[in-house]
Order: sequence, then C-alpha cells, then structure tokens
Amino acid sequence: MTAVLRAQGLGKRYRRRWALSDCALDIPAGRVVGLVGPNGAGKTTLLSLAAGLLTPTSGTIEVCGGRPADGRAQLAKVGFVAQDTPTYARLTVAEHLRLGARLNPGWDPRLARDRIRRIGLRPDQRAGSLSGGQRAQLALTLAIAKRPRLLILDEPVAGLDPLARQDFLGDLAEAAAGGEVSVVHSSHLVSDLEQVCDYLVVLVASRVRVAGDVGALLAEHHLLTAPRIDPAALPPGLEVVSVRHTDSRTTVLVRGGSVPPDPAWTARPADLEDLVLGYMSMPTVEVHR
Ligand code: ATP
Repeated sequence: MTAVLRAQGLGKRYRRRWALSDCALDIPAGRVVGLVGPNGAGKTTLLSLAAGLLTPTSGTIEVCGGRPADGRAQLAKVGFVAQDTPTYARLTVAEHLRLGARLNPGWDPRLARDRIRRIGLRPDQRAGSLSGGQRAQLALTLAIAKRPRLLILDEPVAGLDPLARQDFLGDLAEAAAGGEVSVVHSSHLVSDLEQVCDYLVVLVASRVRVAGDVGALLAEHHLLTAPRIDPAALPPGLEVVSVRHTDSRTTVLVRGGSVPPDPAWTARPADLEDLVLGYMSMPTVEVHR
C-alpha cells in the first residue's frame, strides 16, 4: 500500500520546547484525513513539516514518496494552504490565477476559473481588498487547481461562512472520491470531520494519541455510562482511553472488541465526537457542575 505521508520518529523543537515529538504516521493514499487536537498540540507544526516549510529536528518525513519540497517535481505534488491563507495583497484574483498557471505544471485553468466564478470573486479585485473568507477561498482555489496528489490544509474552513463551508467540503469529498487527491486537513469542527474524513489523527501535547481508519476506529470503541464506574473493574481486554466523572455519572471510552452486557452500565458504540473528545482529554477528567 502506498503511503501519502509517512513519518518516523518525527520531532520538531523550538529552543527547548518540543512542538512535535516522536511522531509515527503511515497514512495511505486516497484518504481524507482529519487532524485534530487542542490548541498548541502541534498540528500546524506537523503540517508545515509535511509541506517542507519546516525541517525536522529529529526523525524523517516523506510525502508522496519524497522529501517535502525537494525540487520542482516534488513541489508540484503537494498543495498547501496555511492557517493565515496567504495571498499577494497587490495582485488581483486573475493575476493569482495566471501566477498559478505559470508556476504549476499540472494547473487546471478551467477548474480555477469555474471555482472563482462559483464563489463569486471578481477577477479584477485585488486580494488585499478581499474579506478574510474570500481570501481563504482564493488560496483554496489555487491549491486545488494545481491538481496536487496531496492537499494539506491547515484549518481551511475556519474563515468561511456556513454555506461556503458546505460547498468547500463537498468539493473535497468529490475530489477525494474520484481518487485524484489525498487530503490532510486540520480542523476543530467535528461535524465537518464527520462529513468528509475517513482517516483520523488525534494529536495531543506534541504526540499522536491515535491514528487510523475512521470506520475501524469506530468499530472498536464503545462509550460506557453509569452513575459510577470503576475503570479497574472493567472486563479484561478493554483498554480505557478516557474517564470522565461528573457529579452524577461516569463516562468511560473503551477500546476493544465487544463489550459484554452488564447491568452496571449502559454501553453504546462510540461516534466520532466521542473518539475525538476521549482521545483529546487526559485519561481521567473530573467535571463538576
Ligand atoms: P492551534 O490549534 O492553536 O493552531 P497547533 O496544534 O497548530 O495549535 P502549533 O502551532 O503546531 O499548534 O504549536 C505547537 C507548539 O509549538 C505550541 O506550544 C507553540 O507555542 C509552539 N510553537 C509553534 N511555532 C513556534 C515558533 N515559531 N517558535 C516557538 N514556538 C512555537
């Protein structure tokens, strides 16, 4: 199986602080990957390493079979939109498209033109006079029209209105379904991830806490709730991912095959939000209301 992104022992340190540590990933091609984690977890650092904007302090990273940003051919394989969706303020929308065409061998002029028309940008408008969301749309169009094999997006929809967001997620899902492109994108919006992602990576405190196919992960996680559950008394074979105590009940996310029925708790299959919240929280969390 070809990996679109492979990291081994990958780490990045800023002065004395590790922004990413000992990261191991093997993401198959053709996936839409959701990268989630708390603020400061290391998501932008990982994506910037994958885009070749940062160099690792330790370990290795490969994207589409090569070193990130290693020459023209490698650059052409990857589209990247950074969190601040950079554009050239003095250039018009049309000039951005011309620049895209000149710099990218696989440029798809029709796709670029159609998308610009659909999102309602005027070709003669300077990027500096666009709203934040419109600038994000322009940057996303440039990245998609380059027809990359891997699209790396750092919180791509954060600045988009709900309708534009739906539209963009639809574009992503369509491109990925056609097998044309793999996508790795970070987001704090679980509902968006639910809609398009088939592969999940949860990063917490500079480390990968879980990574894998969404369907497979969902199949092996359950949420147990009861007035009080002692995680130590759970049947063997169940790995406790997180425990959340409120004043009135305990919620435990467990990983393992099936959960035997027990009058002591209610069990249900976990959904994506349970997974994200469970892996993002510390092993035991007390919540008092
Ligand atoms: P967010 O969800 O808030 O965007 P993130 O998961 O993308 O966060 P990163 O931006 O990768 O997190 O930051 C990871 C850690 O590295 C943070 O503690 C941050 O303060 C630190 N960091 C990031 N960039 C730098 C830098 N240029 N110099 C020093 N520290 C940095």
